[in-house]
Amino acid sequence: MRYSGFKVFTEGLTGNKGWKPVWRDPEPKSEYDIVLIGGGGHGLSTAYYLAKNHGLKNIAVLEKGYIGSGNIGRNTTIVRANYFLPGNSEFYSHSLKLWENLEAELNYNVMHSQRGLINLFHSDGQRDAFARRGNAMINQGDDAILLDREGVRQHLPYLDFDNIRFPVYGALFHPRGGTARHDAVAWGYARGADMRGVDLIQNCEVTGIDIEGGQVRGVRTSRGVIRAKKVAMVAAGRSGQVAAMAGMRLPIESHILQAFVTEGLKPVIHHVVSFGMGHFYISQSDKGGLVFGGDLDFYSSYAQRGNLPMKEHVMEAAMTLMPMIGKARVLRSWGGVMDMSPDGSPIIDKTHIDGLFVNCGWNYGGFKAVPASGWAYAHLIATGEPHETAKRYRLDRFRTGRGIMDEEGTGSQHNLH
Ligand SMILES: Cc1cc2nc3c(=O)[nH]c(=O)nc-3n(C[C@H](O)[C@H](O)[C@H](O)COP(=O)(O)OP(=O)(O)OC[C@H]3O[C@@H](n4cnc5c(N)ncnc54)[C@H](O)[C@@H]3O)c2cc1C
Repeated sequence: MRYSGFKVFTEGLTGNKGWKPVWRDPEPKSEYDIVLIGGGGHGLSTAYYLAKNHGLKNIAVLEKGYIGSGNIGRNTTIVRANYFLPGNSEFYSHSLKLWENLEAELNYNVMHSQRGLINLFHSDGQRDAFARRGNAMINQGDDAILLDREGVRQHLPYLDFDNIRFPVYGALFHPRGGTARHDAVAWGYARGADMRGVDLIQNCEVTGIDIEGGQVRGVRTSRGVIRAKKVAMVAAGRSGQVAAMAGMRLPIESHILQAFVTEGLKPVIHHVVSFGMGHFYISQSDKGGLVFGGDLDFYSSYAQRGNLPMKEHVMEAAMTLMPMIGKARVLRSWGGVMDMSPDGSPIIDKTHIDGLFVNCGWNYGGFKAVPASGWAYAHLIATGEPHETAKRYRLDRFRTGRGIMDEEGTGSQHNLH
């Protein structure tokens, strides 16, 4: 079913009885050409581009829960292309271009809103670092504007500019940055993949990976054995556990990241804003809730909930930056399991086992990567060659030390090393 304004209008007049399920609920077949382990944003976009870009159809996405139950439905929805290092820079630039056409591509409203991202700085040293980052972004073909203090005030008059510890010096403004509705992205890709013949199999947990003579043969699941010529792991926070089924030990730590939302308020925060002196960032959803988050909880866990000290830390940072937020009431908070790589950059690569592929290490930032990751992973699975935007996301960089991309010290437990 194609969506259109006319369809919404006619359904409104006829009691909304003509809508159909957005994807099928097929039984798993005994064999596929390609099996993807994980129905999060990256698994779904990979399935979509395998079908769309490479004409492959005999594909299953195996999801142990329901579509959208992982980090794809838990993140704070920030989409940006403000990376500095070669390797990351061109990848996220490509991703933002895909975002800019995503609704037309999927015929699905993912509510992509380019409201602008403002990264604040609070010292001369930080200004230099942001100026350098801004130049790298412009070199890559993306947009960046260095704002002085008065420039920031025009956009964000509600900040505490003269905070005694962290006065605002200025900001790096990325106008094409913004947000999108996270679960709509999952649903849009799921629908697009399903329409092209991909089987989306929910409540199907992979419990083992079968390998014979160095070649992958299929997977064992809670719904039976499924044979496959190629198996692609894309399980985000559970990547370490899934790879262990193939006897692999990934350079990944799984950590909790929390997020918070307030009651709905009238429009007050019109951008995505990030504090340069504490790990705190915020935007306002279209429903009016202030959506914000901070740092990791700093212990490894697979629980999708966080601890109280980090909640306190995030609230302190919020009050330091914008004291007005103290009037808002927090509605709820939640956590997601982050696949943290040592250098904070992802992995999209083959493994030493023929036909077995790995996609993980998305850290805090894998939502904005969903389109480009799916694009590049599909290319790798279909052709056997890395896509040009993802050539540097090699697994062996952590063994050889060559090609480490430590973007901003946000990998696993940097502060503890
Ligand atoms: C609180 C929070 C805020 C964030 N904010 C942002 C942000 O603002 N911007 C940004 O870019 N990124 C953000 N992220 C990061 C982003 O959400 C993740 O990097 C990204 O969603 C991970 O990829 P995914 O969508 O494929 O993961 P997931 O949705 O977690 O998908 C992985 C799937 O694999 C399934 N799975 C696991 N094991 C198995 C198995 N054995 N068998 C079958 N299925 C299995 C899981 O059930 C899950 O559905 C945030 C994350 C969190 C938690």
